Amino acid sequence: MRKPLVFILIVILVFCLTISAQEQEEEGEEIFAQRRQSMVLNQLKSRDIVDSKVLQAMLTVPRHKFVDEHIRESAYNDYPLAIGEGQTISQPYIVALMTQLLELKGNEKVLEVGTGSGYQAAVLAEIVKEVYTVEIYESLSKKSEKLLTDLGYRNIKFKVGDGYYGWEEYAPYDAIIVTCAPDHVPPPLLQQIKEDGGRIVIPVGGIWMVQTLMKIEKAGGQIKSKGIIGVRFVPMIGHNR
Ligand code: SAH
Repeated sequence: MRKPLVFILIVILVFCLTISAQEQEEEGEEIFAQRRQSMVLNQLKSRDIVDSKVLQAMLTVPRHKFVDEHIRESAYNDYPLAIGEGQTISQPYIVALMTQLLELKGNEKVLEVGTGSGYQAAVLAEIVKEVYTVEIYESLSKKSEKLLTDLGYRNIKFKVGDGYYGWEEYAPYDAIIVTCAPDHVPPPLLQQIKEDGGRIVIPVGGIWMVQTLMKIEKAGGQIKSKGIIGVRFVPMIGHNR
């Protein structure tokens, strides 16, 4: 065969392979979008998630991109998943419930303790103006920063450090969400919410005990707290343990 002809055939072959890979990826995304819809319907709306901003965010964020390839198929199932370093990404319902408890309107500044995979940070970033997120493992923080940047989020700031101390530099926050469990509410977090209307959603309890998901509110400088449900989170490490 003449050289130019071989060259043209190779170009056509590469072109066809690229198109078919692209089609496969689009089909895959379509399937994940369907799973996301049924997750919202069957795991969130069917329970007590009614905040339309939360439902919309859960419908939008591609949860399957926050877990390793080999467990992608389970990304939208009704349970937590491993994300490396012995850590987990919470069950979709718990992410939605905690976000709903923050009672967000859209213009808030929110601090998250425990970046992990970055999934909860993405859900928050869909709803509010600014998200600040602290993670104690550098590897997890860097990985989620890259992913969230690639996904186009521009309203999230990342810090590697012990979230027991919050992130003083940008305080006060309208709301703080903690996604690992300390055995008491860290006093620095209480100091870093707004005096009027600041709130914290946090699981509290020892490693071997059932933890309680708490909602804490500050009004006129006074603290009110209430228990919501029993939960099981990875322990807060660092200063707390
Ligand atoms: N919000 C995460 C879930 C994270 S699991 C997500 O959506 O994927 C809890 C995370 O808290 C883990 O990544 C763990 O490393 C982190 N963590 C534990 N103790 C911490 C501390 N003192 N400060 C900051 N992060 C902490």
